Amino acid sequence: MQATLTDKLAKDTLLDPSVWERRYFDGAWKLAPVTIPVREPATGIELGVAGGGTAELAVELTERAAQAQPKWAETPPDDRARILRQAARVIEDNSQEIMSWIIRETGGVSAKAGYEVAMAAGELYHSAALLTQPIGQILPSADPERMSLARRVPVGVVSVITPWNVPLVLSMRSVAPALALGNAVVLKPDPQTPICGGFLLARIFEEAGLPPGLLAVLPGGAEVGEALVTAPVVRLVTFTGSSAVGRRVGELAGRNLKKVSLELGGNSPMLVLDDCDLDAASSAGAWGSFLHQGQVCMATSRHIVLRSVADAYLQKLAARAAALPVGDPFRNEVAIGPLINEKQLKRVHGIVTDSVAAGADLVTGGTHDGLFYKPTVLGNVAAKTRAFQEEIFGPVAPVTIAEDDDHAIELANQTGYGLAAAVQTGSVERGLRVARKLKAGMVHINDQTIADHPGIPMGGMGQSGNGARFGSTTNLDEFTEWQWVTVSGKPARYPF
Ligand code: NAD
Repeated sequence: MQATLTDKLAKDTLLDPSVWERRYFDGAWKLAPVTIPVREPATGIELGVAGGGTAELAVELTERAAQAQPKWAETPPDDRARILRQAARVIEDNSQEIMSWIIRETGGVSAKAGYEVAMAAGELYHSAALLTQPIGQILPSADPERMSLARRVPVGVVSVITPWNVPLVLSMRSVAPALALGNAVVLKPDPQTPICGGFLLARIFEEAGLPPGLLAVLPGGAEVGEALVTAPVVRLVTFTGSSAVGRRVGELAGRNLKKVSLELGGNSPMLVLDDCDLDAASSAGAWGSFLHQGQVCMATSRHIVLRSVADAYLQKLAARAAALPVGDPFRNEVAIGPLINEKQLKRVHGIVTDSVAAGADLVTGGTHDGLFYKPTVLGNVAAKTRAFQEEIFGPVAPVTIAEDDDHAIELANQTGYGLAAAVQTGSVERGLRVARKLKAGMVHINDQTIADHPGIPMGGMGQSGNGARFGSTTNLDEFTEWQWVTVSGKPARYPF
């Protein structure tokens, strides 16, 4: 089967393994000190062997990036924007090949791969467009002869650390604006997705004509990640991943006085009120809980349903879950692919088993065939159970009954997370009233919880982040620093 992939890729394709195998990227492809097998979770087939890094190499790459960055910062914005737009075109021209890699390396279905491709290109176009925005302010000055202004300057070297679940988008949403705004980047993808989260970006920017030295890609685990946080020349760390690791990254960054952007876990609720369209709500709920096997930070992780419609909602949701085809997303038309690994499988199953033991009803699912976990619906889930309290990151929809709107809001706000939320209701006024009281960075009325776009301020509250935002003009705040400048035609005179 491994031969199939290699055969399929003609010599001059974007991700020809002969370019990246056993290598890392720092403007050129170099033999790596360690190797990382890349496996397809659906089959266990080895797709290739990526190069990986050490802590020492990570620090070295940040230093090389620091040397290349000043010239890039001086490159005219139109020239930088042109490279970003060209990178978007490279994605569009190679979308089928990229989608195949996303499907195979992450186990996601083709709709999810298509979303990643479109969204990554969108991140590049939006980042190019950032360079049309004002980059400073003229400030009031006490002296009319002295001009006072504030301007944005690049931070310098940015470390980007990303997870495996939506690897292309989560890497691109940092790399594209960081580069656009004149920074150099060292990217560390998760070792389970070194291609789609790392080498793919290297190839895209290589093809787009990014000057060497501005983007380095070094796959690796915690050791490489920590080195990229503490490396002396790094000014900004953007981290996407779990809240537990985010806390560690935040501590290290704080101790070393780095700016840090943390986009972390979620446990996002969808409130189903008694005046909603139950058919539409259950469809949204199924999409929100089961898309990419629930391995999405914004997944609909808790369905909080008013008592009078709870039975009907549960039945509709369970029927939708039971009808979803599960299997290998590269070779079959399925809705649900494999979980990423055994550890995740054990965790998901452990949460389901513990929650049922604690009194939840197993309405459908709860079994698995290897890494393929059946879409699972749990009814009667009490707020104290693991399925309610923890981020599951699997295809599990826990349904909890609420007595009224206030009780639903109280339940929704009960976990420490605050990434996304949704409200299903027939009344926009009621939806807005409820939404105002939800602790979440993103709220959707009459939709589920998973939504993103390069033009919105993506991010969470509480344990879902540290207030940083990706996307839209918030990228200007994340990827630049302010510099106050005063200019006077005459030298200033002092009594000393
Ligand atoms: P993780 O925290 O285990 O790993 C994320 C990245 O951090 C990986 O590249 C990993 O190698 C690296 N890492 C691990 N230990 C490190 C350390 N000590 N120092 C520096 N880097 C280290 O997360 P995961 O399990 O790969 O991803 C799933 C999690 O990511 C979920 O909690 C999910 O909600 C979250 N997530 C959040 C968002 C968001 O935008 N808020 C998006 C996607 C995923």
